[in-house]
Amino acid sequence: MAPAWDEKALTGLRTDLQAWFTANKRDLPWRGRDSLYAIWISEIMLQQTVVNAVIPYYRQFMARFPDVESLARADLEEVLELWSGLGYYRRARLLHRAARLVTSELGGELPRTRDQWLGLPGVGDYAAGAIASLGLSECVPAVDANARRVLARWLCADAACVAAMTPGRLAGLAAEAVDPRAPGDWNEAVMELGALVCRADNPRCGECPVRRWCRSGRAGTAAAVGGAAPRPPTMPVVLAHLVVTWRGRVLLAPPGEAPVAAVAADDQAVRDDFTGLHPGLFGLPTSAWLEPGADLDPERLWRPFLKAGGVRTSWGALSTAGTCRHAITRYRLKIQVHTLPLPASAPDRRFAWPAGWRFHPWPLDGLPVSRQAGKVLASVLGS
Ligand code: SF4
Repeated sequence: MAPAWDEKALTGLRTDLQAWFTANKRDLPWRGRDSLYAIWISEIMLQQTVVNAVIPYYRQFMARFPDVESLARADLEEVLELWSGLGYYRRARLLHRAARLVTSELGGELPRTRDQWLGLPGVGDYAAGAIASLGLSECVPAVDANARRVLARWLCADAACVAAMTPGRLAGLAAEAVDPRAPGDWNEAVMELGALVCRADNPRCGECPVRRWCRSGRAGTAAAVGGAAPRPPTMPVVLAHLVVTWRGRVLLAPPGEAPVAAVAADDQAVRDDFTGLHPGLFGLPTSAWLEPGADLDPERLWRPFLKAGGVRTSWGALSTAGTCRHAITRYRLKIQVHTLPLPASAPDRRFAWPAGWRFHPWPLDGLPVSRQAGKVLASVLGS
């Protein structure tokens, strides 16, 4: 049977959830603020990122860009530098674009309704609903993955019921449930319950404040309704980065650059297209991602690239400085770090790097580099 709200259960849910949220909500830096701008920044940062990771970035970002005007005035590179390490850099680029649009076309006034928010770059259904309900008290839902799971469990006692709930039906049920007296609190409370109690992999029904109104909680089927999808297995890969230094500078690749190290014909490349991996961020000369056991001999990997860049073999030997580890989604990267300090006497005019490649003064002083490259550079040159 297609799920639907029971009036009595919905009234009970609103009362009990609100009481629980008031007593248990986490003290987060963006909570209790009535600044639409602050709510907007926090909601964009929180997309696909856990709360604890966001907190320091949010504080730093708000200190540097306290309002939409300061964000719009900033260079994209500065925004990306502050975002560096938070991941999903497209969010930062769209946020910056949206801030410029607000100041250039909306007279610096942030949108006043959910539908208007949807017109800004980077603001989708969830973010628009969250911003409008939290910042403008508009009676609209904000359905993220946590809320979707909680709603499914409240309304369904088995997987067949969930399967009957189309995205459109779920959106309708979510909209019906929003408490018109406090829509922002309602949306936050639903997501907070999902984060702290009604978790995907370990729902704590025994201590849940709304169990009496929850169909899967009462039936003892919560784990089967909206449980965590099995995670894809992690995949180990090996690769190499090259740190070339010269006169207190380090050679960096421009944003979006492809692997440059020569890979042996019999090496299996797990990934050799880095499009979109570190958008807007500078990186180090890199090999493709290879299967463990691949040959990472520095001479074989880098000499063709260095020769094309005008580097003479007599200028110094390549060496292996160590290993760095880094994780990106399911990939576990073991990065062999190779170094080549060029003599100060090497003449500038000999270099023939591809367009966009050049030596940057070290320390980088605000130049946005990928977290992966930052780790490797710090391991060799210190921070
Ligand atoms: Fe989630 Fe269980 Fe609470 Fe229902 S009773 S909301 S399934 S934790």
